[in-house]
Amino acid sequence: MAIVRPKEAYHALTTEQMNKHLRVPEWNIRQKLALTCRILADEGHESALAGQITARGEKPGTYWMLSFGLGFDEAQASNIVLCDDDLNLLEGDGMVNPSNRFHLWIYRHRPQVNAIVHTHPPYCSALSLLGEPLAAAHMDTAMFHDDCAFLPHWPGPPIGDEEGEIIHNALGDKRAILLAHHGQLCACTTMEEAAVLSVFIERAARMQLLARAVGPIQKLDPAAAKEAHDYRLKPRAVGATFHYYARRTLRKNAEALE
Ligand SMILES: [Zn+2]
Repeated sequence: MAIVRPKEAYHALTTEQMNKHLRVPEWNIRQKLALTCRILADEGHESALAGQITARGEKPGTYWMLSFGLGFDEAQASNIVLCDDDLNLLEGDGMVNPSNRFHLWIYRHRPQVNAIVHTHPPYCSALSLLGEPLAAAHMDTAMFHDDCAFLPHWPGPPIGDEEGEIIHNALGDKRAILLAHHGQLCACTTMEEAAVLSVFIERAARMQLLARAVGPIQKLDPAAAKEAHDYRLKPRAVGATFHYYARRTLRKNAEALE
């Protein structure tokens, strides 16, 4: 006779097994940030020097970032610098990225956010020209269901405080945002989650453009989408996905950890 259980039982079992089996190396935050840069370079997020990846430092009001002037594909743990709440260099040999001022606005207003990835990848950038929000209409991209905001106008290069206020207000309490005429941003509790979401928001934008070229997009059932959203964001599943992308990038970029 077939075994039939409520779906919650399978979710609980999956979580338990993930916690047991999906272990990831204990990289420090500089290594995780460098790995995120390399992963996103491999995934086509590179746009010369545009885009920034930051993480909270251990001391309140401090932030890690890639030294300005380097591309994502040049990131190493040793060229990640630490700055204060006004972008003054505290640690490391390099230049603080002046475009990171708008990240500070998000960190100030979202105490749970510990990592931010902002990039201009080709499909998110193309979608951002159309004036329509991201459609989270596929199982693989359900983590954006009711979790991706949209800023419908472009406030200019985000080096001032006004742009920080506009972007953090538009983001609200969501994890991601599509920025018109600009790109994408993911603000998450961990570096791993910000990295994985950034890979998948670009995938979602690519799917949306492919589907929209043929016809209108059918929406997901909200209850099923919410279930898939939570499933995709289980911390161990996110960690394992990050670990997979990290292994892939480390096979050719082992120096990223140095
Ligand atoms: Zn940007």
